[in-house]
Amino acid sequence: MTQQDMAPNQRFFRRTEETLRHLEETGQLKKLQLIEGPMDATVQLRGHGEVGCFCSNNYLGLANHPEVVEAGIEGLRRYGAGTASVRFICGTFEPHEALESTIAEMLGVEAAYTFVSCWTATEALFPTLCEAGDLIISDALNHACIIDSIRLSGVIKKGVRRAIYQHSDLDDLRQKLQAAHQDPEVTGAIFVVTDGVFSMEGDIAHLRELRQLCNEFGALLTVDDSHGTGVMGKTGRGTHEHCGLAGNEVDLFTGTLGKALGGGAGGYIAGSRAAVDLIVQRGRPTLFSNALPVTVACSARKAIEILMREPQRVETLRSNVAYARQGIHRVGFEVLASPTAICPIIVGDTARAIAMSNRLLETGSFVIGFGYPVVPEGTARLRVQISAAHQTSHLDQLISSLEKLKAEEGS
Ligand SMILES: *Cc1c(COP(=O)(O)O)cnc(C)c1O
Repeated sequence: MTQQDMAPNQRFFRRTEETLRHLEETGQLKKLQLIEGPMDATVQLRGHGEVGCFCSNNYLGLANHPEVVEAGIEGLRRYGAGTASVRFICGTFEPHEALESTIAEMLGVEAAYTFVSCWTATEALFPTLCEAGDLIISDALNHACIIDSIRLSGVIKKGVRRAIYQHSDLDDLRQKLQAAHQDPEVTGAIFVVTDGVFSMEGDIAHLRELRQLCNEFGALLTVDDSHGTGVMGKTGRGTHEHCGLAGNEVDLFTGTLGKALGGGAGGYIAGSRAAVDLIVQRGRPTLFSNALPVTVACSARKAIEILMREPQRVETLRSNVAYARQGIHRVGFEVLASPTAICPIIVGDTARAIAMSNRLLETGSFVIGFGYPVVPEGTARLRVQISAAHQTSHLDQLISSLEKLKAEEGS
């Protein structure tokens, strides 16, 4: 039967099956692993037993910290399970307010507002704050949620313009800013937006230089620090601390509660009181989507408290990262250079990355291979992630798994 003879629903079913079959046949199909216990340095995987976990964002080991878990349980007892409302109707609970002021204090900004995820927070950001005549200039390797938020802002508000600068290329950004100044259609604000730590490369945005450029051209600096918060800088405040900037030198932050900060879901927008207030009044995700669950707000706040109280966790992470990166090099793999906990080993082909990941799992190390469309075609990689929860023995286990893999590849 040809495409034209089919009913529209049959066309849908056929193409869906074909796409999945193609992924299966070319070794690109992702298999979701089932975890049977808490997220930690090791995890219990269905069918594989206990394996070292080197692919979570549990950078500080807070996901299963007893105090973080207990704070959630207390919150559940005191406030119940559901908020049953968006925030502006009757869904704002005390723990939301407490969490948001804690986030603002941690980052060093005036205000913060939470969402069920950083994806949602970012989706609220540009479509709410931008107006016709504004320009958003985005790093070429920014996270997918930033890309989609920028696209959406152009749909919701006609006349929001966008540009992309080459990854971390300050000269290219300068050119884009110069062009914007000469463009009669750019009559409003200019936003420069970047990840703090790039999720697939593990490299760090040059925030100090970006701030200077923004100052020169009167642009606003926006940083999604999902992989930087809790991790970067001496006390884990984030990439701005690493780069020697105060919180209020970044105009707008977005970030997640689902990575270093305990691993519960949730995200936020943080910055000036006025920007946050406008998001509260006008953001479509704030007006039409449920509040962050209270239990998660309680756990996340506890996680931040622990981070502030025990900055040595950041130090432990840093020394684990240095140890792991050295070991990975020693056994013959190249890691993209950076001091962050994201250690990508580029292997090229998606099917190869997945096969290598499967082999590592058989030797007791859980590392995920990423291919298209998560990363550009031809740049598939194993992404090793390190945590403060890892002991030296865990890191040695990873290195020995990689060493075996290397030996097998060579033979
Ligand atoms: C992980 C990540 C997100 C998504 O965070 P969620 O809270 O899981 O939606 C957004 N932005 C960046 C840069 C990320 O790395």
